[in-house]
Amino acid sequence: MKTLEQVRASLKPYPIEVDFPDLSPWKNGNSGIDYVYSFDSGEPGPHVLIMALTHGNEVSGAIAVDALLRRGIRPRKGRLSLAFGNVEAYQRFDPQNIDASRFIDEDMNRVWLPSALEGERESVELRRARELRPLIDTVDLLLDIHSMHEESPP
Ligand SMILES: [Zn+2]
Repeated sequence: MKTLEQVRASLKPYPIEVDFPDLSPWKNGNSGIDYVYSFDSGEPGPHVLIMALTHGNEVSGAIAVDALLRRGIRPRKGRLSLAFGNVEAYQRFDPQNIDASRFIDEDMNRVWLPSALEGERESVELRRARELRPLIDTVDLLLDIHSMHEESPP
């Protein structure tokens, strides 16, 4: 069985060919939560959340949500929320060490159990999940955008 380091060493290196969007224009949001926007159509319908950056080094979602915000996308029915998750990790992205900014303290995909959210433990990711929870608790449909960071078909 190969170690993680052996697996990493066997992966083909490749260039990073996309620009990482500057998210600072979105910091204040419009929802009371930093980096979160929410648009209510005024018509009945589901609350849909499109979330980027559960993992700080997975830029695809950040590119998509940044583009949706820049284009002023608004829902015709229901409510649409657009959020950037682990922005602190994203801001630490280092192209020379692409896995280092996946998270800061712990995997943000693993902090969502109520026992963790309501527990005593502290981490950068738990703090952010606690900030996002009031929004997420109202969501009917959630698209959580991840991206592969090793070469593979889309
Ligand atoms: Zn991911």
